[in-house]
Amino acid sequence: MFAVKRALKLNNNEATLMARHAGFRRVVFNFGLSLRTQMYSEGKFTDSKVINEVKKVLTNYVKKKPEFGWMNQLSSRVYQNALIDLKDAFSRYRSGSSGHPKFASRRDGQSFTVDSSNGKVLLNAGKTIKIPTLGTFRLFEPLECSFVSQTFTISKEGNRWFVSFCVDAERLPVPQPESSVGIDVGIKSFATLSNQQVFDAPKPLIASAKTKLATLQRQASKQVKGSKNQRKTYNKISRLHARIARIRLDFLHKLTTYLAQTFKLIKMENLKVKGMMANPKLAGAISDLGFYEFKRQIDYKCRMYGARLVLVDQWFPSTKTCSNCGSKKDRPLSVRTFDCPACGISLDRDFNASVNILNWEPSA
Ligand SMILES: [Zn+2]
Repeated sequence: MFAVKRALKLNNNEATLMARHAGFRRVVFNFGLSLRTQMYSEGKFTDSKVINEVKKVLTNYVKKKPEFGWMNQLSSRVYQNALIDLKDAFSRYRSGSSGHPKFASRRDGQSFTVDSSNGKVLLNAGKTIKIPTLGTFRLFEPLECSFVSQTFTISKEGNRWFVSFCVDAERLPVPQPESSVGIDVGIKSFATLSNQQVFDAPKPLIASAKTKLATLQRQASKQVKGSKNQRKTYNKISRLHARIARIRLDFLHKLTTYLAQTFKLIKMENLKVKGMMANPKLAGAISDLGFYEFKRQIDYKCRMYGARLVLVDQWFPSTKTCSNCGSKKDRPLSVRTFDCPACGISLDRDFNASVNILNWEPSA
């Protein structure tokens, strides 16, 4: 069994719908938790009995009150699953694997679960996903094949909503045609492969969007505070931010899917993002390109497609070593070719590093 997780491409109405469902889940969970505490103070009940009582009170009493009428506009599967969550939280507490359930707050993150009450549903390959009881939504990256699943969790990370579901299969049947590859991730080219392929980030697109962004921000600063026009400009700014994020994410998804479907063994450096971020010159470029997101995606896609990911020790001097003879030489980042004084070979700096990464073996 493995989990599939995809970013949803939502418009404002759809995002609001998700936020309302997350709020619904929180209200039900907290209501159940407080009711349960009351019931325990009155006598001995089993967890299932308590949950059943909570369900009865919610269905027959709370949901009928006018001030809770909004609950009836939302998926009832949210509240069924919120109560299952509550029951699980109590089982974990009893088994000693976690502390007493706490009230859910918005700060803990927004998420909720829905399921199909008629059993598993078929999800077709393509750029949209039909989530039971919620509707059909667009995806940033298509489902590459059909899946069958029953339970779906929707969660918000940063500004983005994700859907995840479990699939009953060992892995996706993708026989990677190529055996292995080393990847050097860098700033000049985003990824340089040991088979000579080079992937450049969509920097020109991002640069032009950023120029536009600066213009709009200047415009907003000159407009009357709180005016209709200023609000319009701010809306344009937030749409542009979203567009930049989309361009980046599309690029990363295409690249990581290609890599995980093409190579049986992928070796790359365990990106020392923290260390790189400490260098102010590199920090902008790195956060721009989403190295962390790249690593996250390649990791889950390798597991999904059955490719093997090997993270090379972060102290391995991949850029200082000659991939031909093994001799070492320090070079500033600005020098783009690796000229080996020992064997005389001249290689692209990043390509040389990618070959070293491919040849790296963990020390026993
Ligand atoms: Zn050499």
